[in-house]
Amino acid sequence: MPIYEYRCKACGRTFDKLSSISEKDQMKTCPYCGKEDSVKLVSGFLSKSASKGACNASSGG
Ligand SMILES: [Zn+2]
Repeated sequence: MPIYEYRCKACGRTFDKLSSISEKDQMKTCPYCGKEDSVKLVSGFLSKSASKGACNASSGG
């Protein structure tokens, strides 16, 4: 089961919770202040896009 990280907008603290596939878009309650004003953080997001089918314009000559 994947663990998602959340950040409370009320107190600003971060906490991780287990999220299922069905409840991935559910709002998590902050364990510190008890408010349901948390946002899901993206951890370990790889913004590496593999370039495929790209022709190299510059050719040695
Ligand atoms: Zn909080």
